[in-house]
Amino acid sequence: MKLLKDKIQQEGKVLSDVVLKVDSFLNHQIDPMLMQEVGEELANRYSDEIITKVLTIESSGIAPATFLGLVLGAPVVFARKRKSLTLTDNLYSAKVHSFTKNEVNEISVSQNFLSADDRIIIIDDFLANGEALKGLLDIAQQAGAHIVGAGIVIEKGFQKGGEQLRQQGLRIESLANIKSLANGKVEFFD
Ligand code: 5GP
Repeated sequence: MKLLKDKIQQEGKVLSDVVLKVDSFLNHQIDPMLMQEVGEELANRYSDEIITKVLTIESSGIAPATFLGLVLGAPVVFARKRKSLTLTDNLYSAKVHSFTKNEVNEISVSQNFLSADDRIIIIDDFLANGEALKGLLDIAQQAGAHIVGAGIVIEKGFQKGGEQLRQQGLRIESLANIKSLANGKVEFFD
């Protein structure tokens, strides 16, 4: 997706050989015009599928997931990372190792919002080692839902998550796939 790649080149900050900061349009401040295009592009790529629900993880997955949900006319559910006073029982839960924070979070979704009748797409801002996606897949499987595939805004294809999960049969559509962050430069796969 050219608009997204241009934005990454213009505003992305390479923090190390493995970490890209995009907090001016995705991870802190959000560019709604770009997110609208992200939602439309993901809906286009999955136009061959029936999708009843969009599943993501707080907080940075929520913007792209919501714009996709708007195009699809489907509800968006986000897994919570923190225990909440109002989210106590009847939960689907999974443990996720956070790439950026280097800690393990238990993520949870209320059983009220996912069921075996759902056809789910999983959305996240980044795909690195695939831990967040695996946690969300686990939760969707606990619900007995059909998983249509995943949609990722920025995949770091030099890390192992995408390849591993595709080998396991998961369809993953990523809108920008980074080949390298070496020498402070962002290089994309074609
Ligand atoms: P994974 O679970 O695939 O290892 O990493 C994906 C998760 O870690 C995403 O939810 C994302 O929030 C975070 N993440 C991974 N790599 C990066 C990165 O380079 N930059 C930012 N901002 N977040 C990242």
